[in-house]
Amino acid sequence: MKSRIADNLANLRKRIRQAEQRYQRPPDSVQLLAVSKTRPAEDVLAAAACGQRHFGENYLQEAVEKITSLAEHNLYWHFIGPVQSNKTRLIAAHFHWVHSVDRPKIAQRLSDQRPTHLPPLNICLQINISNEASKSGLSLSTLPEVARQITELPNLHLRGLMAIPQRSSGFEQQRRPFHRLHQALQSLNSEGIKLDTLSMGMSADMEAAIAEGATIVRIGTDIFGPRD
Ligand SMILES: *Cc1c(COP(=O)(O)O)cnc(C)c1O
Repeated sequence: MKSRIADNLANLRKRIRQAEQRYQRPPDSVQLLAVSKTRPAEDVLAAAACGQRHFGENYLQEAVEKITSLAEHNLYWHFIGPVQSNKTRLIAAHFHWVHSVDRPKIAQRLSDQRPTHLPPLNICLQINISNEASKSGLSLSTLPEVARQITELPNLHLRGLMAIPQRSSGFEQQRRPFHRLHQALQSLNSEGIKLDTLSMGMSADMEAAIAEGATIVRIGTDIFGPRD
């Protein structure tokens, strides 16, 4: 188990380096977020033993248990699942990042509830980039207004944008929504909202995301194996 995770991580780091080179991205411009949802704490530890520091979680109760039991390891925790209002207090208390903020109300609560002894919570706005009726996420048309509101909140640090595009298998097709997300980031930057993070790319579309400027790729399956 442990050596499989180590092998997978080594392979993945190689793939990331190769994609950085192929798509003219600076070395180390793509950070790996290991998505450990549904995995036991021992899998997180196996990855941490290989130098992995950043972990992504979707399910709050499960995540808080892992975060608490691994507190002495100084890991960084990213919440990447849907955020309901009644979860904001625990998220604000336990996480370093939230990638899935999609409403001003959620941002307001996270800011209000961020404990004062902690640094500002890093935030990505989740965008419904493929305009799917069933998906959470802001539309691109409301993004500038919401982004401006969130930069005013004292205990949050708005870092960038996140998206989970509709699944598609062709590489060029995969690139298109990531390209739109990158354009949205550049457009905010040109309006004076300075953002440095594009959280995009999962196991099935990581290279396409890196080609289009991802700065954080969120990878579960290719590190820990398939989920049940
Ligand atoms: C589960 C999940 C991932 C990781 O997906 P894999 O296909 O296992 O790499 C990334 N991002 C989010 C938001 C997820 O829920």
